[in-house]
Amino acid sequence: QAKSAGKNTFAFFDPQVQSGLLQRHRIEVELREAIQSEQLVPFYQGQVDAEGRLVGAELLIRWQHPERGLLAPGEFIPIAEASGLIVELGYKVVRMAVQQLLHWAADERTRQLSLSVNISAKHFEQPDFVEQLAGILADQPLRSSALQLDINAKEVDQFFAMEKLADTLADQPLRPSSLKLEITESALARDLGEISARMKALRDLGLGFSLDDFGTGYSSLAYLKRLPIGQVKIDQGFVRDLMVDENDRGITETIIALAKTLNMDVVAEGVETEAHRDLLKQLGCPVFQGYLFDRPAPFAEFARHYGLPIN
Ligand code: C2E
Ligand code: MG
Ligand code: MG
Ligand code: MG
Repeated sequence: QAKSAGKNTFAFFDPQVQSGLLQRHRIEVELREAIQSEQLVPFYQGQVDAEGRLVGAELLIRWQHPERGLLAPGEFIPIAEASGLIVELGYKVVRMAVQQLLHWAADERTRQLSLSVNISAKHFEQPDFVEQLAGILADQPLRSSALQLDINAKEVDQFFAMEKLADTLADQPLRPSSLKLEITESALARDLGEISARMKALRDLGLGFSLDDFGTGYSSLAYLKRLPIGQVKIDQGFVRDLMVDENDRGITETIIALAKTLNMDVVAEGVETEAHRDLLKQLGCPVFQGYLFDRPAPFAEFARHYGLPIN
């Protein structure tokens, strides 16, 4: 390995020397293994309301690389997209999120929380995306706890069983859209009819949609109106200079107003300071995400920070 070798020895794997193409290829091979192993680690970042209460979280993936340490998505998501590995990676992330939501659904302190995952446009466009997600949700039955109880209950008193079943049905199913798919406007740059049908099928599976980095792409208002998008996220690029840049402030106000008109939730990203939060609040933004509250962290740290049970 070039890293451990002395300075004057064979340096084929030295990133300085190695061609970009080879480097990419190596990362691709490693990433394929990483997806199959436990090297992809879900990090969580909170989303809080105006009173500072946690209302949900975003799952942001990290790669715990055996030699190169913890890698941020920017270092491998583009390669995953170019190689097609993003599809497998995306489903893995969805499975992680479903597992977490199942834990949260079982505890009344966390039942109301939503969890968002990022889905690349490349992945969202897969012809069998809806089918695959239906498969994942069927494997990890978000709604089958009631069925399970039904079977157990047959041994017990019938009336009691029915009552309990009704309770379970009322309590257990994930609220619609507690699992949110964050897509960017680039995922919408296709035939509106097809995208709309796809999104509605996914909505019928109980999934919600959040439009990430909103304002940085090209989605038309007609699209927003016709698609079942429940939430938009104001891009951190607009939030950063909110206090000093009138254009950013104007855009932010416009996004908040638009979301209200179209009956969508709004989340501001990249909220780093009290000043950001206070101004956003004043502009009518109800939910915030950013370093002011927490940095993305492994689950245990995230849970500790917000006083949540640790699975
Ligand atoms: P994103 O979905 O827009 O996520 C927000 C990014 O902003 C995250 O970077 C987050 O750590 C960072 N961030 C949060 N609060 C602040 C803040 O107050 N200030 C600043 N400057 N940054 C903040 P991260 O985790 O490096 O992720 C980067 C991007 O990688 C994400 O942008 C998303 O597009 C992509 N990504 C992350 N996880 C996944 C995944 O599981 N699948 C896919 N396809 N993409 C992912
Ligand atoms: Mg996101
Ligand atoms: Mg974003
Ligand atoms: Mg982004």
